[in-house]
Amino acid sequence: MSSSRLRIDPDRFWMTVERSAEIGAGREGGLSRMALTEPDREMRDQFVSWCREAGLEVTVDQVGSIFARRRGQDDSLPPVLVGSHLDTQFNGGRFDGIVGVLAGLEIVRTLNDAGHVTRRPIEIVNWTNEEGGRFPPPMTASGAFADVYSVDWVHARQADDGATLGAELERIGYRGVAEVGGRPVDAYFELHIEQGPELDAAGIDVGIVTHGYKSHGLRVEITGETAHAGPWPMEKRRNALVGAARLCVAVDDIGWRYAATGGKATAARLVAWPNKAGILSDWAEVICDVRHDDPESAAAMAEAVRKALPDAATAAQVEMRIVEEWEWGGAIFDEALVGSLRNAAAALGQRTLDLPSQAGHDAYFLARICPTAMIFTPCRDGITHNNNEFTTRDRQVPGVDVLLQAVLARADRAGP
Ligand SMILES: [Zn+2]
Repeated sequence: MSSSRLRIDPDRFWMTVERSAEIGAGREGGLSRMALTEPDREMRDQFVSWCREAGLEVTVDQVGSIFARRRGQDDSLPPVLVGSHLDTQFNGGRFDGIVGVLAGLEIVRTLNDAGHVTRRPIEIVNWTNEEGGRFPPPMTASGAFADVYSVDWVHARQADDGATLGAELERIGYRGVAEVGGRPVDAYFELHIEQGPELDAAGIDVGIVTHGYKSHGLRVEITGETAHAGPWPMEKRRNALVGAARLCVAVDDIGWRYAATGGKATAARLVAWPNKAGILSDWAEVICDVRHDDPESAAAMAEAVRKALPDAATAAQVEMRIVEEWEWGGAIFDEALVGSLRNAAAALGQRTLDLPSQAGHDAYFLARICPTAMIFTPCRDGITHNNNEFTTRDRQVPGVDVLLQAVLARADRAGP
């Protein structure tokens, strides 16, 4: 059969998605499969066994990302990477990240059935800790692969229970030995649910991701002084929790100032110590981020957050300092690769919608080291990071077929 006629097996694909939905069940309908927990281990084991059954060679790198390789006719050529993540948020859904990894598996199974060996190798990848829900920040392992973060830094990321990412990798048996990144990659494709309402509303199954919203994130540490909640005078209070709360409100206000043009600002996390009744907290931490489709507006929003620090600190008589900043997004995707998605969709008779991505994805970091493109697939009402995240087999399959054709075209193309 000519490779342009290849189609995935929808039932087989959906069976893997449904099997994944049994591992780490959260609230009804959802998943709670935080990175490097027992459910994450179980899902990884399941994924690895599927990959081995498909004849793939599995390697795990030092930050726990799993690569499943299908050899190419010329196996010395750099591989085409296809993937996403199998971890979820604490109250996550069954599809976010998952359909992208399992789409890679389905593509390989389809090629196996057809006996089609691509010119270049294909590797399916499951990136560790994409969500960052347990170990902030998100996309830590793909960041390390793209040399944005060091391996030691990734290993030192800490969960609320004090566990480090490195020790947890060891505990679940996924602290691999393969070098992190440092090798040529021909291209990276990621299929992901849209996490917005547009495809669903338009009744279109394939979204072509044109660019990413520009995002800036900050982690801020606040220091004050503990004191008794009763006798200690108001004018002497240095409550770190209050300083953090004032900063959170300021961040939210910035979001509202830019809301009319689509800007978003999120005070995502506030932790305080000792955070107990009867005592003022002397330490707190805030993680926040700002996002905007226009990079200049995003930068202005980030600057507004930095400027909000002194006011919030003065009002609560505490010290604040930014301990970490990160950014991603913008015009990062490869034109030719995005074009190959359009061609594949056209050949399959699929209508497409051009969309920016408002969420962060591993693709953002991969785009720094190789040509990268993303496909979005629908999710009902755009609900995500929520146990009500929902979609159907028939609305995912067209995107996976587009991915198959685009990966084939890329992996089989002539040239070095
Ligand atoms: Zn995701």
